[in-house]
Amino acid sequence: MSVLPRHLLPDNAAVADDGWLTIGGCSVRDLAAEFGTPLFVYDEEHLRARCREAVEAFGHGNAYYASKAFLCKAMARLAYDEGMKLDVATGGELHIAISAGVPAPACALHGNNKSVAELRMAIEHRVGHIVVDSFDELDRIDALMAEEVGPTPKVLLRITPGVEAHTHEFISTGQDDSKFGFNLANGDALRAVERARRSSSVELVGLHCHIGSNVFVASSFGKAAEVMANFAAPFDLPELVLGGGLGVPYVEGEEAPTLTQWGNVLRDACDALGVRSRVGVEPGRSIVAVAAITVYTLGTIKPIPGVRTYYSVDGGMSDNPRPVLYGSGYESFLPRAPFADRTAEGRLVGKHCESGDVLLREARLPADAAVGDLVATPVTGAYGRSMGSNYNQITRPPVVFVRDGDARLVIRRETFDDLLATDVGH
Ligand SMILES: *Cc1c(COP(=O)(O)O)cnc(C)c1O
Repeated sequence: MSVLPRHLLPDNAAVADDGWLTIGGCSVRDLAAEFGTPLFVYDEEHLRARCREAVEAFGHGNAYYASKAFLCKAMARLAYDEGMKLDVATGGELHIAISAGVPAPACALHGNNKSVAELRMAIEHRVGHIVVDSFDELDRIDALMAEEVGPTPKVLLRITPGVEAHTHEFISTGQDDSKFGFNLANGDALRAVERARRSSSVELVGLHCHIGSNVFVASSFGKAAEVMANFAAPFDLPELVLGGGLGVPYVEGEEAPTLTQWGNVLRDACDALGVRSRVGVEPGRSIVAVAAITVYTLGTIKPIPGVRTYYSVDGGMSDNPRPVLYGSGYESFLPRAPFADRTAEGRLVGKHCESGDVLLREARLPADAAVGDLVATPVTGAYGRSMGSNYNQITRPPVVFVRDGDARLVIRRETFDDLLATDVGH
């Protein structure tokens, strides 16, 4: 038997009397009929529950939602309303957070190459923290403060602790060979602390690290906490932010620690090390990934005897580039029979003009999957819509939040005119 594991679906997923999957009390069949496909469906209660869990695990004011995982005004607002602050990494992300009504002091600005304009925006809006990444950035802040663009910013310094995250190379960020942060091993971190403490253009309030993303090994977080706590101890700063990176299960057989368990590991580690600072974290994926599914329509089925069957859907690498970028695995199922035995094997592909446009290399579907069926992939709430593109001039899919039988459109489907919105040529 090959049945979709239940824990890959959002909390409020169920099967209706007619056999169809419902999320938040809404039938996926009705959602697809109303909003079309491809479609991102987010379980709003699931999102809220994960935000509350993070706030509970780390304390009010210490949990930042890493907005790059999935950002729109509704999501920014939801995270803030549930007690989280926001981690933004560009002027664009900060703009969306502010447009959603999130106060800038509840935002922290990250980035290894923040522009002068982004730093100016952050200082003028009085963001809560700027997480400074380099000596060049300290120079840029000095220059801005000489122009008196705003009040002295509170800053954290991003430290590269030299800890391996045991995840994909592209999303591993804490090792010495990294574009991010001040290296601890070569003395840059210490030089940065000394400079920031002396500087009158920044107020140093703490240190930061982020070892990588989709990390399952709880001990990697404990190790980073230990390295950071030891380094930070002599400075007695009020804050220590240990980043995000908690993994989520994507496929059968994967299990990840919960936010609560992650909180316990970090708290135990920090208690054992005598950390007196507030300890903050920045979860992204673990808040939003499992909350959503992507719904596609199956358009073309091409069996090649002795080779494989290709199942083509109406989206692809433009709504989920993770399989292409990282070789990430996903599961697939039919929303009309979500827990049916999946006896047919094939490759689930998109509609883009290249062979690399693969969603699932080894997809399993019920044997009666047919042209016109809805096909869904679970755990697409993080780094799908947010990393998506308009490749092939595909119009990006809409996003609906579902809750208690209501569906709320939070991002509409792009139109062909949207594709021309920035095209000023003749
Ligand atoms: C990406 C990122 C996060 C969030 O990572 P997740 O794996 O989504 O939890 C947190 N902090 C920083 C600095 C990041 O770059």
